Amino acid sequence: MGLGLSGESARSFLLSLGYPQKDIITFDEKSAQAQASDPNELFRLYQPQTLVISPGVPLTKDWIVAAAARGVEITSEINLACSILESEILIGVTGSVGKSTTVSLIGAVLTALDKNTFVGGNLGTAFCDYAREVSTGKRQRAKWVVLELSSYQLENCKNLTLSGAAITSLTPNHLERYSSLEAYYESKMKILTLCKGPVVLNQESTDLFSRKNALEKIADKNCPLFWTTPKNNSLENLNLSSARLVGKHNLQNLAVAAKLLLELGIPSDQMKALIEFPGLAHRMEFFGTWNEINFINDSKATSIESVLMAVDSCLPNVTGTQKIHLLLGGRDKNLPWHELSRLAGNPNILFYFFGESKDLIPKCSGLLGSTFTNLDGCFSAVMEKAQKKDWVLFSPGGTSLDHFKNFEVRGDFFKNLVQKHYSVR
Ligand code: ADP
Repeated sequence: MGLGLSGESARSFLLSLGYPQKDIITFDEKSAQAQASDPNELFRLYQPQTLVISPGVPLTKDWIVAAAARGVEITSEINLACSILESEILIGVTGSVGKSTTVSLIGAVLTALDKNTFVGGNLGTAFCDYAREVSTGKRQRAKWVVLELSSYQLENCKNLTLSGAAITSLTPNHLERYSSLEAYYESKMKILTLCKGPVVLNQESTDLFSRKNALEKIADKNCPLFWTTPKNNSLENLNLSSARLVGKHNLQNLAVAAKLLLELGIPSDQMKALIEFPGLAHRMEFFGTWNEINFINDSKATSIESVLMAVDSCLPNVTGTQKIHLLLGGRDKNLPWHELSRLAGNPNILFYFFGESKDLIPKCSGLLGSTFTNLDGCFSAVMEKAQKKDWVLFSPGGTSLDHFKNFEVRGDFFKNLVQKHYSVR
């Protein structure tokens, strides 16, 4: 159900296990490639006995709830991949923001120790790709498997058992798909019930730390909770502040990754990869300096907390009349835009609004700035105003889905605009 990366990966895995093609029916409400796109038709024509639900398809859909009540098996790509596991040590990372960065940090250390480490899940390679390659003998079984797990994946992965886990943050996100903020947070906290080893939590995430009691109640008795900050004594000799990653939030991610690795028994002198990690594209990506103007691509910022973190990371760089040109916009998902109001009146920040939420953001936050239908128009206006030593910060807050396929395409589009602007001059 859902023919994205995860669905395709599940299908290839099943085929590699020898399930006949005719027994695997694809369903997608939006893709013409799928065999069925209407649930009634799917059940009438094919009578499926198992639904492999992709993270993009809400489990709360009436026809899924009804099918489950009739005894149809509900499973997921992550669950299917678990069926071939033997000796792998699984590490899972979730959180509202910081997952990909933290997974990549943990992955970088473990890959330096053992090249055969698998890093994937919600980030990069789907878990069923790993399962397919192991079961067909294309790759060796990994000692370490590091998985990024979204809240949607955590809702449907009962076969998953983790040896270590981390929650990077809790902050309002995806409220278009949950009945309440608490329901969304609970889906993240579910990772504790899947873990039989240490769980590391970012103490500097306010919404996470304020749920300490609830988290302690949920945790399996075999899974000790470790709250950490970058100042944690056990991390002292790692010198995390010398890391290449920029920003206060990344220091938190570094601390979470390091603490979990320590609790899993990796000695601190084998964690050099944390310090050397250059960062991921589209997350506070320092794209370069042209004509003394600095450009940051933070297209992945689709929560208010991430936008505020991005601004806070840039602010120390601007003094006097220098400006941060902040491009905000994209598709709304019921985000608490009003939380941006603390930036109002800061003489060092200029605001620009683009895309579907161009009017909503200034309305909810009280921020003042020009509005643009498209990102390119918005960018041109920024470039008319930007002066030497300014920072152009593309940290939109909204998702890319109003005009782009995903945040990567949007980030590349932004970087192209920068390059085009300077190449025609
Ligand atoms: P995720 O995979 O959870 O979406 P990423 O590591 O890809 O997280 O980061 C997504 C966005 O959130 C980026 O804009 C990044 O700069 C920001 N970010 C990363 N870690 C944190 C954090 N701990 N707190 C707030 N924002 C963060």
